[in-house]
Amino acid sequence: MTRTFAVIGDPIDHSLSPALHNASFAFLGLDCTYIAYRIPKGELDAGVADLKKIGIAGFNVTIPHKVDMMRLLDEADEVCKTVGATNTVVNMDGYLKGYNTDVDGFLEPIKNRKIDCRGADVLVVGAGGAARAIVAGFAKEKVHKITIANRTPQNAERLAKFAKQLGIESDQVDIARAGDIASSFKFIVNATSVGLKGMGLPISTKNITRDSVVYDIVYMPVETPLIQQAKEQRATIIYGWEMLLAQAMKSFEIWIGRPAPYEAMKLTLLGRF
Ligand code: NAP
Repeated sequence: MTRTFAVIGDPIDHSLSPALHNASFAFLGLDCTYIAYRIPKGELDAGVADLKKIGIAGFNVTIPHKVDMMRLLDEADEVCKTVGATNTVVNMDGYLKGYNTDVDGFLEPIKNRKIDCRGADVLVVGAGGAARAIVAGFAKEKVHKITIANRTPQNAERLAKFAKQLGIESDQVDIARAGDIASSFKFIVNATSVGLKGMGLPISTKNITRDSVVYDIVYMPVETPLIQQAKEQRATIIYGWEMLLAQAMKSFEIWIGRPAPYEAMKLTLLGRF
C-alpha cells in the first residue's frame, strides 16, 4: 500500500520538501509519496483531522503551525518538549507522535566540520521560531554564552530567558551594535529572514574575522549577502541549505527507519536553487 506523507503550513507552495522527499522515495524505490497541504492559520484542528482520515503516514509542520501542533500530539519527544514546537509527526493509526528535527538539523553541519561548540560564545541574530531551535541546539552542546540580537528587543529578551532556563548564560545586544562586537564570538548565526532573495545584511560585517564561524540559515539564495561578505573576510561559513537538508534527512529517517539518501536529496535541493 502506498504510504503518503505531507508538509502542512501556509504559505506552502514554495516548499522544497515535496521535491526532496519524493526524490528520496524514487531513489530508494519506496512506494511512498509526499504532498504539500495548505492549512491556513486557525484551521489546524480540522486540517489534521482530515489528514488522519486519509491515513497520512506522517507529516512535516511549518509556519504558522509548529507551536500550535504540539496541542494535537498524543506524544512528544524530549527535544519537541524543550523547544515547544514540532516539525515532524508520525501517525500510528491515529496516534500522533511529534519530533523536532530542526535542533539536530541545525547542529549537523557544525558537527560535520568537526567544530567544537563546547564553551563557545555565540551571537544569534533573530528571535523567532528558528532562533528558538538554534538556542536549544547550542544549549545541548553546552556553549558558554548566547547573546541575542533582534529587531524587537522584547523578543530577544524572551529568547534569552529561554536560554537561561536551559542552563546557559545569555544576554542581549542592540542589533545596531551587534556587528561592532562580532569579533568576540566564535559563532555568528543569522536566524532572521534578512538576506532572503539576496536583500540586506542582518548586522554590520566589518568585525567578522577569519576566526568567526558564520552560519546563515537563510537558504534562498545560497550565497546570501552575509555569506558573501563573511567569505571575503575569510570566516568559516555554513550555508542555510545544509540545515534544510539535514532536518529533512532526519524526518525521513524517523518515518522510514533507514538512512536518507544524502546525494539524491542534495542534488534535488541544489537543483531547485
Ligand atoms: P519567524 O519566527 O517569523 O522569525 C523571523 C525573525 O526575523 C524575527 O527575529 C524577526 O524579528 C526577524 N526579522 C524579520 N524581518 C526583519 C527585518 N526586516 N529586519 C530585522 N529582523 C527581521 O521566522 P523563522 O521561522 O524563525 O525563520 C527565520 C528565517 O530562517 C526564514 O528566512 C526561514 O526561511 C529561515 N529558516 C531556515 C531553515 C533552514 O533549514 N535553513 C529553517 C527554519 C527557518 P522581530 O522579532 O523583530 O519580528
